[in-house]
Amino acid sequence: MVSAQVELDIAEKRAWALRRQLGIPNNRRLWVLACMDERLPIEHALGLREGDAHIFRNAGGLVTDDAIRSALLTTNFFGTTEIVVVNHTECGMMTATGEEFGQALREKGIDTATTPVDPSQPELTLPHGAFPRWLKMFTDVDEVSRQQVELLRASPCIPKDVSITSYVWEVENRRLRKPYERLSERTNTFTQLHGGR
Ligand SMILES: [Zn+2]
Repeated sequence: MVSAQVELDIAEKRAWALRRQLGIPNNRRLWVLACMDERLPIEHALGLREGDAHIFRNAGGLVTDDAIRSALLTTNFFGTTEIVVVNHTECGMMTATGEEFGQALREKGIDTATTPVDPSQPELTLPHGAFPRWLKMFTDVDEVSRQQVELLRASPCIPKDVSITSYVWEVENRRLRKPYERLSERTNTFTQLHGGR
C-alpha cells in the first residue's frame, strides 16, 4: 500500500525528470556563462535557485566553441530567452599571457601546436601559433566582459531576440556590477577633481 504522499512525490520527480521531453524550459528561461572560479558563487550572485537556469562555466566565463554549442541548444530548443555572462575580478585568466602558458606547457612536455583540442575528434588541432588566441588570456575584465556580449550577439547560432547582458563579480567586495561601473574609481576621480588628498 503506497501512501498518497509517496505517490505525489513520485509524480513530482517524474514531472521534473521529463521537463526537457515535455518542452518545459528552466524556470527563468536563462542561460548563464560564468567563470569556473570558486570565488564566484554564481547561484548566490544571481539569486538563482535549483531549476532556475542552465549554467555553463569555463575558465574566464568566455565565449568558446563549446559555449556557443551550449548556447545554441538552450536558446533554439530548450526555451531560453535570456543570456547573462558573469566574469570576475582577480581572474586566473589575467595572471599570465597565452605565450607564457604555452611555454610553461612545452616545458611540461605538452606540445600546444599538435595537441588535439577535442579527444573525441583527434583531427581537430590548432593551426600553428593559434594557441594563445585559443587560450584567451586577458588583462582587462571590464573590456572582456563587454566583449563577450558582442561575441554572443554576433553569433548566427543565437536568435536575435535573446536578451544578452554581462556583469563583473568583484571577489573582493562580493558584489555584482556592470562592466566599467567601478565605484572606487569614481570616488578617486571625484577626489582628484576637488583637490582632496
Ligand atoms: Zn576566473
